[in-house]
Amino acid sequence: MPQAQPPSVATTVRRLPDRAHYERSTVDAILDEGFVAHVGITVEGQPFVLPMVYGRDGDRLLLHGSVASRLLRALDQGLRCCATVTLLDGLVLAHAQRNHSVNYRPVTVLGVACRLADDEAVTALAAIVDHVAPGRATEARPADDRDRRETIVVELSIEEAAAKIRSGPPAVPSEEDATLPVWVGVVPLTLVAGPPVVDERTSRVADLPPSLSPWRRPSAGR
Ligand SMILES: Cc1cc2nc3c(=O)[nH]c(=O)nc-3n(C[C@H](O)[C@H](O)[C@H](O)COP(=O)(O)OP(=O)(O)OC[C@H]3O[C@@H](n4cnc5c(N)ncnc54)[C@H](O)[C@@H]3O)c2cc1C
Repeated sequence: MPQAQPPSVATTVRRLPDRAHYERSTVDAILDEGFVAHVGITVEGQPFVLPMVYGRDGDRLLLHGSVASRLLRALDQGLRCCATVTLLDGLVLAHAQRNHSVNYRPVTVLGVACRLADDEAVTALAAIVDHVAPGRATEARPADDRDRRETIVVELSIEEAAAKIRSGPPAVPSEEDATLPVWVGVVPLTLVAGPPVVDERTSRVADLPPSLSPWRRPSAGR
């Protein structure tokens, strides 16, 4: 199990530091539950933040995309980046508009991504597929030479990372606000998959494969 890392200057949570978590078990659990990383880079002074699916293999966040992608090419050139994965757990509705909030579990990972080649890239692609649908990599064809030529796969170390977590009801209101006739509480949010829909045009298998049975994320009890 990776040890807790002291936060760097850049990953130290300054606002509401009691919500900060730097231990890898918390960071990894959030990364394992999420689907989408928003990856940010700055190109010629202009920041870009784009959504990407990802995988995690131990200390590495794995990203992939087309060789034609500006984002992937920038990562390949060693630009510093920030990858943020956010889980939303609830809407927090308070007496005062100002005190409304959300229950959240985001992680930010900072660093320089490094391109993977050959077998490492093939293994990383399988890890990304398995992150989205565990076990799927053993069902679908692995990347071949052409896939590898057309794809950039990078790893980003999870060493410089922070999580920030809010949970629970709204903050205790002022005495004055507490007298207001307003509904106050939390609306829980969960990500729920619908039943899988087979592609009848091309699928040679009608039964659900093991990777989709049951089709659940960790928060739903996977
Ligand atoms: C949930 C999700 C997961 C994705 N996963 C991956 C992945 O794993 N790998 C991958 O390569 N791509 C993924 N994409 C697509 C990715 O977000 C980019 O569109 C793609 O990588 C092209 O990047 P680029 O730098 O070449 O963009 P460019 O086409 O050069 O972007 C030009 C401009 O188009 C706009 N733009 C580009 N992409 C988006 C977008 N997604 N949403 C809104 N505006 C946009 C922005 O203004 C951007 O500055 C995913 C998209 C979504 C929504």
